[in-house]
Amino acid sequence: MAQKTVLIVYAHHSPGSFNAAARDAAVEELTEQGYKVIVSDLYAMDFRANATRDDVKGELKNPELFQYGDESMYAWMEGRLREDIVAEQEKVKEAELIIFQFPLYWFSVPAIMKGWMDRVLAQGFAFSLKQMYNNGIFKDKKAMLSFSTGSTQTMYQPDGINGDINVVLWPLQNGVLHFCGFQVLAPQIFWCPTHSPPAARTAMLDGWRGRLKGLLSEKPLTFAPCELFDLSFQGGFLLHDKAREEWKAKEVGITTGHHLGKALPPDNQTKVSLQSTSK
Ligand SMILES: Cc1cc2nc3c(=O)[nH]c(=O)nc-3n(C[C@H](O)[C@H](O)[C@H](O)COP(=O)(O)OP(=O)(O)OC[C@H]3O[C@@H](n4cnc5c(N)ncnc54)[C@H](O)[C@@H]3O)c2cc1C
Repeated sequence: MAQKTVLIVYAHHSPGSFNAAARDAAVEELTEQGYKVIVSDLYAMDFRANATRDDVKGELKNPELFQYGDESMYAWMEGRLREDIVAEQEKVKEAELIIFQFPLYWFSVPAIMKGWMDRVLAQGFAFSLKQMYNNGIFKDKKAMLSFSTGSTQTMYQPDGINGDINVVLWPLQNGVLHFCGFQVLAPQIFWCPTHSPPAARTAMLDGWRGRLKGLLSEKPLTFAPCELFDLSFQGGFLLHDKAREEWKAKEVGITTGHHLGKALPPDNQTKVSLQSTSK
C-alpha cells in the first residue's frame, strides 16, 4: 500500500517554543505510525504572507483592475502561479491530513499562516462555487487546527472574558477549511502553556501524543451540509423551507454559525457531535 502523507503547516519563530514541541510530537508519532510527514516551516521558509500581483506570472487578464482572486485562478489554470505557491499546492494534493500548528494571534492564525491560506488555497485549486463545503474539492481530505493560546480555558468559555472559543474558531474552521471541503477534525487546543507549570505543559504534550495515535480515524466535526440550502443566487443560498421547518421545534441552532437565532449547539466547533445534521 502506498505510504500516506500528513502535511504540517507550522508557524512559530523559535525552535524552543511550545509550538515547536507540539510539532515535533506530531512528526515523531505520525512517522512512527508509517506516515510520510512533511513540514512547511513558514518562518524558516520566509514564506510570503502578501497576496500580490507577483504571484501571477505573465500578462494579467485585466491589467486595468487587478483582482487577486480572478488572476490567481487563471494563473492556476494556465500554470502561471509563482513557484512557492505551486510547491505548497503539491504538498496539499499529496496530503491526506493537514495539521495547522500555530500560536493563536488575535483570535486567528499568525499573518504568515493567513498568507499561506490566501495564496495557496487559490480559486479553482481549492474551491469553486460549485464545489464547496461538503461537496468541496478536498472532501476526501482532513484538516485540523492545533494551537496554543495566551489565555486560559475559562477565559474562552461562553461566560468568560474572551467569549466562546467555538465562535472564535468558526471563521477558520468553516470559512476556510470546510469551505474548501476538508473534513475538519476537532481542534487541539493547548491552553496557556506560557503560564502553566512545567508538569502541566508535559501533560498537554502527552495528551497530544495520545490523541495522535488515533487521529486519522477520528470522526470530523459537524457542519451544515449544502443540501440544506437553495444553492442558487435567485434563492440567495438560503436554508430550504423544509430544513427551516425541521429546526423550528429544536432548542439549538444547526451549527455555531447557522444558529437561526437559537442557542448555539454546545461545543459545535470543538467536539465531535453524536447528533447528525439531516439533509
Ligand atoms: C501578535 C500576538 C497576538 C496574540 N493574540 C492572542 C489571542 O488573540 N488570544 C490568545 O489567547 N493569545 C494570544 N496571543 C498569545 C499567544 O497565543 C501565546 O503567546 C502563544 O500561544 C504561546 O505559545 P508559544 O509556543 O509561543 O509558547 P512558549 O512561550 O514558547 O512556550 C511556553 C512554555 O513552554 C515551554 N516549552 C517548550 N518546549 C517544551 C516541552 N517540550 N515541554 C514542556 N514545556 C516546553 C517553553 O520553554 C515555555 O516556558 C498573542 C500573541 C501575539 C504575539
